[in-house]
Amino acid sequence: MPLNEQVRTTAQPRGIFCNRTLNLRSVRAIGYDMDYTLVEYRVDAFERMVYAQARERLASEGWPMAGLDFDGQMVTRGLVIDTELGNLVKANRFGFVKRAMHGTRMLDFGEQREAYAQTLVDLGDSRWVFLNTLFSLSEGCLFAQAVDLLDRGALPRPFEYASLYRHVRGAVDAQHMEGHLKAEIAAAPERYVVPDPEAALALLDQKAAGKKLLLITNSEWTFSTKMMAHAYDRHLPGGMTWRQLFDVVIVSARKPAFFTEHAPFFEVVDETGLLRPQTGPLHTGGTYLGGCAAQVERDLGIAGDEILYVGDHMFGDVHVSKRTLSWRTALVLRELEAEVSALEAYRSTELRLLALMGEKEVLEARLSRTRLALQRLHTGYGPTAGSDAATLESRVQDLRGQLVALDAEIGPLAKAGGELTNARWGLLTRAGNDKSHLTRQIERYADIYMSRVSNLLQATPFAYFRSPRGSLPHDPAAPVSS
Ligand code: IMP
Ligand code: MG
Repeated sequence: MPLNEQVRTTAQPRGIFCNRTLNLRSVRAIGYDMDYTLVEYRVDAFERMVYAQARERLASEGWPMAGLDFDGQMVTRGLVIDTELGNLVKANRFGFVKRAMHGTRMLDFGEQREAYAQTLVDLGDSRWVFLNTLFSLSEGCLFAQAVDLLDRGALPRPFEYASLYRHVRGAVDAQHMEGHLKAEIAAAPERYVVPDPEAALALLDQKAAGKKLLLITNSEWTFSTKMMAHAYDRHLPGGMTWRQLFDVVIVSARKPAFFTEHAPFFEVVDETGLLRPQTGPLHTGGTYLGGCAAQVERDLGIAGDEILYVGDHMFGDVHVSKRTLSWRTALVLRELEAEVSALEAYRSTELRLLALMGEKEVLEARLSRTRLALQRLHTGYGPTAGSDAATLESRVQDLRGQLVALDAEIGPLAKAGGELTNARWGLLTRAGNDKSHLTRQIERYADIYMSRVSNLLQATPFAYFRSPRGSLPHDPAAPVSS
């Protein structure tokens, strides 16, 4: 099946999904993020370790951490931490909160309405912290549990929810910065990295097709070289190493500042990571530290819209590169595979639900018309209904009964739909019937999105991705089958 057909008509778990038309033939350089993009981690193993180390740190400060564990289902990417109320929330594309959890307890509908009826999630406000990547899961889980501890009065010193968040964030941050974590992963990469031999072939295809390949990662040199060698070298032909895949490698890039500021480059001059200040333009084959995207454009002589950047961090990789420099963008969203499969499995139930909702709309309209006829009859205005009050009353009762029966059928089907992939939060990309806040950002900032880099293999370096025609509420309705 041709790719475009595939993109439009079937949701393949390993497909490439297009928001804005992208012609790979006019892309001259492809930049890649490393962690969770070129190198795929076992989320549970990675996050469990970060969590355990952060937990130890908090325990050493006198926090009662015994019995607490990482729960990979407690939070998902795309949720938002409300640092004012100590909640995690899921918002729809407009910022309306659709589900909320205080500490580790889900709020019921009344509590949620009370907390958020007047409040929209606005990521521009520091009250809200968006969970941008799979690295955010340990932080979200630990924060939720810390709120429970604070509420129970179990912490050794007072906090507000906002300062509690900063403290938890500091503990998680320290694990990424301090080196134990990276040393542990680099010592046993097979425990943490999901092998994906096809990614190497996808990159070889792109390189041979004349694309310049760039690696732009926030990880530092020693870790990057170990992980890339582990993930790529064995899948490359004839003694080639990962380093030869890339025209330019940039480590410790400090994204998102990399895209917005003008920091200098340093050249990494040997395997130990020895640095010297970079003078003059970047050269092919060079390995650099720091720097900025503007100099990459200038030195490679490539305009922003000729560079495709592929990353997993919604804000740091995709949002900022698109907004600041108009780079073409691809988001890697690992959860998409489970999401697409769950939607596929739910498809027949969803069609049944749609049919029942159609019936419900008809009954509701009939009920409204009958009630209006009764109102006119009682008050004595407007056209006569053609039926007496008793007949209309009994019709109202009958319609109400039918609606109750229909709701009893709809309820469990809708509930199952709301619990796909995660019982607490449901699908990443949806919020209730609507698109989620994450989806809104994906459609705004990611030209294409996919579950893994190796999905690009099926597309070839010459692919032309076309976005589907958007749907609008006033579009002609598709026929509903039951
Ligand atoms: P990239 O995705 O290749 O740009 O690399 C992401 C880097 O950021 C990895 O080295 C992660 O360990 C690091 N990282 C992820 N989360 C945090 C954090 O919360 N604080 C500091 N570093 C982080
Ligand atoms: Mg990354």
